[in-house]
Amino acid sequence: MTSTPSSVSETVAAIAALPKVVLHDHLDGGLRPQTIIELAAEIGHDLPATDADALGAWFVESADSGSLVRYLETFDHTIAVMQTREALVRVARESVLDLAADGVVYAEQRWAPEQHLRAGLSLQDTVDAVQAGLEEGVALAAAQGRTIRVGQLVTAMRHADRWQEIAELAVANRSNGVVGFDIAGAEDGFPPSRFPGVWQYLADQNFPVTIHAGEASGVSSIAEAVHLGQASRVGHGVRLIEDISFDEHHGTAALGQLAHWVRDHQIPLELCPVSNLQTGAAGTSIAAHPITRLKELDFAVTLNTDNRLMSGTSMTHEMTLLVEQAGWTLEDLYDVTATAAWSAFIHHDERRALIDDVILPGYQEIQGAQL
Ligand SMILES: [Zn+2]
Repeated sequence: MTSTPSSVSETVAAIAALPKVVLHDHLDGGLRPQTIIELAAEIGHDLPATDADALGAWFVESADSGSLVRYLETFDHTIAVMQTREALVRVARESVLDLAADGVVYAEQRWAPEQHLRAGLSLQDTVDAVQAGLEEGVALAAAQGRTIRVGQLVTAMRHADRWQEIAELAVANRSNGVVGFDIAGAEDGFPPSRFPGVWQYLADQNFPVTIHAGEASGVSSIAEAVHLGQASRVGHGVRLIEDISFDEHHGTAALGQLAHWVRDHQIPLELCPVSNLQTGAAGTSIAAHPITRLKELDFAVTLNTDNRLMSGTSMTHEMTLLVEQAGWTLEDLYDVTATAAWSAFIHHDERRALIDDVILPGYQEIQGAQL
């Protein structure tokens, strides 16, 4: 692919309209503040602020605070208001609409059914509710002239002991919108090897897996995710940078064995720059975030939002930051978008159609880009 150089300002102006793919976006991390306020009022749940702007700011500040306690508290509030079918439907529907408005044409939204059982829903009820909301959102977006496809990634919480049960829930719903399985939560101390049989079960079912790894923990965690966990993608994986030695003087990089393995197999990394800066997982600035180096080294890099509410972010925002602060071009944005599409948990012919029919034409519409 070649492209004519575009100025930073031209690229920034074009970003909102670009077709985007997001593979790592938490449903419980992307609620609208006003929705939280309304749902909390219905159930008498106390919030730290009752004005939408102030509440939105509270979420970002808490996630920015450097305090894990405050960061986790943010999810206490979002999960608290997502305990009924009606609430799950609404949150899922609005999430699709917000992604579509951001230019997203394909999304995988992850969430943990086991966290939504407090008001009496069954695990299956929660999956059905989220699926109904996603489908409503897709239909409403279509009515607004925006085409988006969304799949569910069903997550098991690492600290809980329900991995096998949740994996079976995911597989049972593969024709009900669930496209993959994930584990999330405390990375340290709860590795994939806790329940090795889960990964073999999923492999036997030919069911796609992505695993959060290389965010709070390092290289060994990524190794376990891709080897024992047989993960097709790695959630974050940003600390793979620790397995690469850079010689700044000569401008060279020496990859360790795991880094070679991940690159040789082009295992996609679901990188989330703004989130990483907040949690201190990697990088001290967008300019210094490992995503740019990993991309230059030809890893299979994808760009993601993680938690839009807590990070005050969107795909447009992430892309704009990379262009303005890390020197990314329109071609770079196309690369990570195409990589994400090729890494989506849909079939190969569907991935090809997504790229050929949606993403490439969207980029070709942008003046100055010849892909
Ligand atoms: Zn995540």
